[in-house]
Amino acid sequence: MDILLTRWGDRNGPGRRHECRRGTHECARHKRRFSRDLLRIDNSWMRFLLLWTSMSVLLAQSNNMIRVIAFGAHPDDCDIRAAGTAALFQAAGAAVKFVSVTNGDAGHQNMHGAELAARRLAEAKESARRLGIEYEVLNNHDGELLPTLEVRKQIIRQIRQWNADIVLAPRPNDYHPDHRYTGVLVQDAAYMVVVPHLIPEVPALRKNPVFLYYEDNFQRPNPFRPDIAVSLDAVIDKKIDALDSHVSQFYEWLPWVDGRLAEVPADLVERKAWLKRARTRAINAGVRASLVKWYGSEKGNAAKYYEAFEICEYGVQPGEARIRELFPMLRN
Ligand SMILES: [Zn+2]
Repeated sequence: MDILLTRWGDRNGPGRRHECRRGTHECARHKRRFSRDLLRIDNSWMRFLLLWTSMSVLLAQSNNMIRVIAFGAHPDDCDIRAAGTAALFQAAGAAVKFVSVTNGDAGHQNMHGAELAARRLAEAKESARRLGIEYEVLNNHDGELLPTLEVRKQIIRQIRQWNADIVLAPRPNDYHPDHRYTGVLVQDAAYMVVVPHLIPEVPALRKNPVFLYYEDNFQRPNPFRPDIAVSLDAVIDKKIDALDSHVSQFYEWLPWVDGRLAEVPADLVERKAWLKRARTRAINAGVRASLVKWYGSEKGNAAKYYEAFEICEYGVQPGEARIRELFPMLRN
């Protein structure tokens, strides 16, 4: 004969102890109390989580550090478009986070699924280590991203928790559906990050961030406009070092897609030099004019490497003085 005493029975004291000669599975009274007990544990864990989230957001909001969050569809996209600018922000004392909206589990010719996702997460973490920034990979499938309410809420939480001053994202007219929908999702979050009753467990921002688009070559419906151009001459090798972390992409998958796998050098030093040649581009007239605007004629005309950004119409619209406040590398 066994007498079952559940934990709630002990905690509630002998006066409320319920003894039973049947198992909990057969005793309705036990089952009811056991469920209530589980609910109490869930509630207290939830309260702790909410308190912890609120405290970390308030802490982030309490200092004046410039805070930058960049979104990419895959765990190398932010690196391609903004690793150099991230390195300059990091050197100036800003807090930088890269977020990949999918886990990249379809981006390889030989590997896929959980094995590839784990490899790409490790590559992203290595890139973050080399840049001195944070990197988070969200567990949405590669190649299947849709602009759903669920993913929009993931993005809103990320921007709020980071207390972002600057949000970077692709334009929503990219060739790749994951890139395109990442652009849409960030646009859809652009106003909602300040609405307190939406996702109330993560405090809403009191000020709307500046939203910026990465550079791309797409011409329709309108070409990219280089509102801000950042010279990377001081950090180009650091950017290439960050890209070099994504071995599965830059030395395997992307060359395979392009039919150029045989061109990738086997030697580790040679392949990094090859990557630098492949990943730097000539400076067009629009970008050159933007570099001259931000750096002056001498330095702007001398710049060899750059990243450029377009100001999104959503979010706060910064003037030139505010842009120089937000981008310490543009202060002359
Ligand atoms: Zn991508």
